[in-house]
Amino acid sequence: MNEGMITSAYIIAAILFILSLSGLSKQETAGRGNQFGIAGMAIAVLATIMNSDVNAYGVLLVTIGVGGGIGAYLARRVEMTQMPELVAILHSFVGLAAVLVGFATYLDPESNYVGTERTIHDVEIYLGVLIGALTFTGSVIAFGKLSGKVTSKALILPGRHMLNIGIGVACAILLVLFLGTAPEGAAAADASIGKGAGTFILILMTLLAFAFGVHMVMAIGGADMPVVISMLNSYSGWAAAATGFMLSNDLLIIVGALVGSSGAILSYIMCRAMNRKFFSVIMGGWGDAPKGPAVEGEEEQGEAVAINADEVAQLCKDAESVVIVPGYGMAVAHAQHPVSELTQKLKAAGINVRFAIHPVAGRMPGHMNVLLAEANVPYDLVLEMDEINEDLSSTDVVIVIGANDIVNPAALENPNSPIAGMPVLEVWNAKQVIVSKRSMATGYAGVENPLFFRENTRMLFGDAKESVNGILANL
Ligand code: NDP
Repeated sequence: MNEGMITSAYIIAAILFILSLSGLSKQETAGRGNQFGIAGMAIAVLATIMNSDVNAYGVLLVTIGVGGGIGAYLARRVEMTQMPELVAILHSFVGLAAVLVGFATYLDPESNYVGTERTIHDVEIYLGVLIGALTFTGSVIAFGKLSGKVTSKALILPGRHMLNIGIGVACAILLVLFLGTAPEGAAAADASIGKGAGTFILILMTLLAFAFGVHMVMAIGGADMPVVISMLNSYSGWAAAATGFMLSNDLLIIVGALVGSSGAILSYIMCRAMNRKFFSVIMGGWGDAPKGPAVEGEEEQGEAVAINADEVAQLCKDAESVVIVPGYGMAVAHAQHPVSELTQKLKAAGINVRFAIHPVAGRMPGHMNVLLAEANVPYDLVLEMDEINEDLSSTDVVIVIGANDIVNPAALENPNSPIAGMPVLEVWNAKQVIVSKRSMATGYAGVENPLFFRENTRMLFGDAKESVNGILANL
């Protein structure tokens, strides 16, 4: 393939990626968005392979085969509930790739940049490795937190802000030293000269960035994780863009920038949804240990009252309006199909039934929408928090299915709570609230939920799928 054809293929792929993003922004068009993305990626990979610079086809085919095989195997095996951690670990691969490409580009014996070009190239390498390294370790820790292998509680080291600032300053000084290692004069054109000191500095900075990634994500409390996920998503995009600069690959720059900026927008949306300041979140300033009696029974809570599926079915039959609030527990229980069936039955009985979706419900952006779409729940019944919160006070029955933090009144009522200020679904304003969950355990943020003890709340204990099937059987 000649240069012109490759550039054309890259432009087509870039357009397909933009169409893909726009398709993915709505449930109705998400399937088409995915197809555009797949087509764009297929064109991008083919055009790259057919580039005249590529000749090690043997190695390429083996690595594509092994990597693609492992990817396909894992993607087939992964449970819907494990998707968030899969996404996190995939971000870490992008970060690691940026680090490796950065080192390979720096050590490339054929690289012959001199003068200003060399400086620009070295800055690209340095930033690419820096962003890649912190994306790598940050994403590995996020993977651990989402899969429950690492505690979701914030790890707060003494002097943590000083530690972060110290690492930032050290990286800036190392950049200056790194740029200073470029040889001058006649030696400048010889790429094999003067790389020892540069490599050492690059390794030192990589270690610091690894440590920063670990510390940054460890310091973030459970409920703040949505911001971290979208932020790491954004970082992985910028790491890819930096790799694109290092390899002079325009498409990688475009795709990286698309992922980086859409991740940044998502972080902003998440911050707004949670009423948080981005910097305060990533610096571990929020989500720390609670300041007052917000946890584990330190406050007098009263008693939770249980209800059975039969009684819930009766409440539904008597209701004119029902709102269902799904949360992470619905995903764990795979309850979306019986929930969809429940919706159909209630609708058939003339009951106004709708879904209320909190922006951070579940463990990844759009988690609940994906599950409900999978179970064929009509899109027009699925409303965002802002669209439905006001209607809750005129709702007869709210059924909370495996949700906890997103319906916690402490967020609005207890200024000392670790989730204080986060907008939540105000389900307690409804006439009757049913909470389906297995126990009195806390949600991901580890915060006690006073909703369970309200006068108009009844606890439907048990696995959500079994509970919903129980309601269905009694309807
Ligand atoms: P929560 O994690 O707050 O609560 C889920 C509840 O589901 C638990 O209290 C659990 O209680 C219950 N549950 C678990 N398994 C089952 C089951 N099989 N049947 C019935 N109930 C079950 O989830 P929410 O959706 O309310 O809130 C999301 C939380 O996750 C927020 O804190 C958010 O910040 C955080 N988060 C969100 C991300 C996102 O992008 N959306 C990413 C990372 C974190 P029990 O054990 O008693 O059954």
